[in-house]
Amino acid sequence: MTNSISLAQGREYLAIPGPSVIPDAVLQAMHRPSPNIYEGELIEMMPSLTRDLCRVARTEHNVAIYISNGHGTWEAALSNVIAPGETVLAPASGRFTHGWAEMAEGIGAKVQLIDFGSSSAWDFDRIAEALRDDKAHMIKAVLAVHVDTSSSIRNDIPALRALLDDLDHPALLMADCIASLGCDRFEMDAWGVDVTVTACQKGLMTPAGTGFVFFNDKAQAKRAAMPRVSQYWDWQPRSNPELFYQYFNGTAPTHHLYGLRAALDMIHAEGMEQVWARHERLAMAIWEACETWAQGDALHLNVAERQHRSHAVTALRLTEGRGTPLREFTENQLGLTLGIGLGMDDWEGCFRLGHMGHVNGQMVMATLGGVETALAALDIPRGKGALDAAAAVLASKT
Ligand SMILES: *Cc1c(COP(=O)(O)O)cnc(C)c1O
Repeated sequence: MTNSISLAQGREYLAIPGPSVIPDAVLQAMHRPSPNIYEGELIEMMPSLTRDLCRVARTEHNVAIYISNGHGTWEAALSNVIAPGETVLAPASGRFTHGWAEMAEGIGAKVQLIDFGSSSAWDFDRIAEALRDDKAHMIKAVLAVHVDTSSSIRNDIPALRALLDDLDHPALLMADCIASLGCDRFEMDAWGVDVTVTACQKGLMTPAGTGFVFFNDKAQAKRAAMPRVSQYWDWQPRSNPELFYQYFNGTAPTHHLYGLRAALDMIHAEGMEQVWARHERLAMAIWEACETWAQGDALHLNVAERQHRSHAVTALRLTEGRGTPLREFTENQLGLTLGIGLGMDDWEGCFRLGHMGHVNGQMVMATLGGVETALAALDIPRGKGALDAAAAVLASKT
């Protein structure tokens, strides 16, 4: 590396797949003294806040809010519907499904894991086989990670619903949309998802610290039949409180709620369809650039087929462990922080681009320009014209 001066001074850009960029409007909404938690504005804003959250998940059903990250929502959701000794099925396309499955084991569930590795989407034949073999319907839920952030694979949730229906299998369909909500199209009710978990620091553009569990009547019926549910995780009072404190089982995450309010205002002002279309277009520009670089045979997209790629995160592989030096270059020399390879055997060879939430065309072009610069600095073979290819996608009218 020949650069002796750093070019990192200036506004830094954290382009990792969560936490994502926090809009100034969200930061400003949080910059205020502590509000009264017994009466007034904060209490009054809750019904519209939960309604607008449900609009993002495209559900008319219920939402429970937790002061937690995504891992907490995994446990919260499981605790309401899975009793010790019950079985869950976990089709895994990356590290996050394994994480949720381990959480299920922790609350005493039996886990049937089908591992598709870290570069392949679900194989529905194998999921069908597992469901068909389960004649006694011991499997009570399928843990479905929509976008696995480690691999950047996006799985087909409607196809999983169709499979459960075809086989007349009553298991709950539980979706992890932590990386996809507010980025990739997701429609809880239309897609027949029974439980959806998500958190606020990715597509919802708010500092980490609140998580959400959406659930429908079928999931609520399973909750009602549970022998017991830990009081703190119980979604019942949280989703249908008589008193304000029951939303959170204690003090409200006051400033997060103001931040979230501002983020939801931005999302709905843009419109869900437009939010999804923006993420799709930006992702396509990234793919064009990456596919061009890949012609040099040193850099590869982790997910070969476009239909299985997330619109929020892109995982890349470089030969000979060069992911780490590339990230170090962009961070130290350019002020651009890229995501580490996560859950991969050769993680030092991998890196990820986060493009979720408050991200626009110039930010994507800057990220790609940063990668191009690092590839040049590290003398990594690459196809030429990646930035032109990305620009053509963003310039296109269709
Ligand atoms: C980020 C993420 C998680 C974990 O969320 P934390 O807030 O880090 O606990 C789980 N699942 C997916 C798909 C994620 O992207």
